[in-house]
Amino acid sequence: MKKELVDFIHKFDSAYIPLYKASTLASWNASVSGKPEDFKKSDELQLKMVKLFADKESLKKLEEIKVSGMITDSLLLRELDVLYRNFLMAKADTSKVNATVRMQSVIEQKYGNFRAIVNGKKMNDNEVEDVLRNSKDVNAQKEVWIAQKKIGNEVAADIIKLVKKRNEIAKDLGFRNYHEMSLTLGEQDPKEISKIFDQLDSLTKSSFTEIKNDIDTYFVTYYKLKSKDELMPWNYQNRFFQEAPKIYPVDLDQYYKDKKIDDLVEKYYAGIGLPIDNMLKKSDLYPKEGKNQHAFCTDIDKLGDTRVLGNISPNEQWMGTMLHEFGHAIYEVNIDTALPFILRDPAHLFTTEAIAMMFGRFASNPQWIKDNIGITEEEKMKIADNCFKTFRLDQLVFSRWVQVMYRFEKSMYENPDQDLNKLWWDLVEKYQMIKRPEGRNEPDWATKIHIASYPCYYHNYLLGELLASQLYYHIIGTVLKSDDYKFQSFTGKKEVGDYLKQNIFKPGLKYFWDDMIEKATGEKLNPKYYAKQFVK
Ligand SMILES: [Zn+2]
Repeated sequence: MKKELVDFIHKFDSAYIPLYKASTLASWNASVSGKPEDFKKSDELQLKMVKLFADKESLKKLEEIKVSGMITDSLLLRELDVLYRNFLMAKADTSKVNATVRMQSVIEQKYGNFRAIVNGKKMNDNEVEDVLRNSKDVNAQKEVWIAQKKIGNEVAADIIKLVKKRNEIAKDLGFRNYHEMSLTLGEQDPKEISKIFDQLDSLTKSSFTEIKNDIDTYFVTYYKLKSKDELMPWNYQNRFFQEAPKIYPVDLDQYYKDKKIDDLVEKYYAGIGLPIDNMLKKSDLYPKEGKNQHAFCTDIDKLGDTRVLGNISPNEQWMGTMLHEFGHAIYEVNIDTALPFILRDPAHLFTTEAIAMMFGRFASNPQWIKDNIGITEEEKMKIADNCFKTFRLDQLVFSRWVQVMYRFEKSMYENPDQDLNKLWWDLVEKYQMIKRPEGRNEPDWATKIHIASYPCYYHNYLLGELLASQLYYHIIGTVLKSDDYKFQSFTGKKEVGDYLKQNIFKPGLKYFWDDMIEKATGEKLNPKYYAKQFVK
């Protein structure tokens, strides 16, 4: 059996490794050029990849080896487990899988074509967000909010059908529903994740209640209202209250406006012993005609060719984004290349997110700005209070929003026939403490595109934030042996880079993520550090 597995991996690698490289490179080229012929090439390679993992014979072989129980070598066992989970979808009925792809594409087209119509004028999402964020006219906000929610009715029935189809596939594979399947195949026990969300709810509840009260007090004056009871969902400055409204006066763009962001990132990471100069050479960081307008990091060959795509503008947001993306990059590039190819990945998507978030947070940290931009101690102390208050508000607002998303998706897949409109607003009222407009019974849940397009993934953003805080506390307390958890930037601290390299990056996917976290910090993923950082 051991020989059969080794042979299987050998054969698999000889097909997978070249395909992986060709496909990541094609996708990179398409993102940079934006040319249809490059996208076509990239799509073709993607399809080949899907086909490789849909091979029923391979799954049968892996299953046979798995049930034999004859593999005892720990690294081989890990490879077997990772491969098996990657191939499990091969068990699904191809016609059902294809049906979900088609259904999702129809829904995405409807989102893409939808424009909110206000007074006969069409508005795109950016224009909608702009009115919600910047208008002080509550009636205008209401009109825009209601108009953009109309997409819900256009897609809700389609989404419910898609959810049921996804559940059928999950049931064929032996799971109770698609939510359970998604988490389990991603090595997350749904019960454990729910436990973490419950803990985090009780940890953040009273602080959020307090801060939500501050927001409401601020808005009563801002909108010139008589009382907090008049505040409605459209007054919170974005469509879902997923980002914090700007209630503290702080302008960090002034420090970045005449700086070269990529130089700052290069110098910073070199200073902590995690150089990125080779990756910078192959990265593409400034706007260009036709180029993808966002930012991402990709590992082309898992042998050191890691690249970042960006569209830098000299401001706080792009400083944070570049620290974030190169956080992903230093993780990828420091994974042990002696590991089998299939294990040369981060321990989980949320663990690489955690590293990216931990570094991305520094762009708005007054100590980091002092150490890397060179503002005076006096200036640092002048902005510190509003920086930390804004940071805390951002985190608490985001964490309560993810509670809504996680619980909604879980419950929806458990029972797609329930009253989803009611479920959504019950959760929004409970976790975000925003009251539903009187008598409203619309599919407002269906206006969040992630529910159709990125199913059962949203909770990973919050797990990433939790781990970012846990690592931040561990590094300060144990690696830097300090008890100041506020004014830290890690600037010039090579021991931080060494710690991350040895404990987080090098092991790649060798261990189950919670075992890796335990080996690296002395305990499993624990929301208490997030609470320490953001809850008073
Ligand atoms: Zn990221």
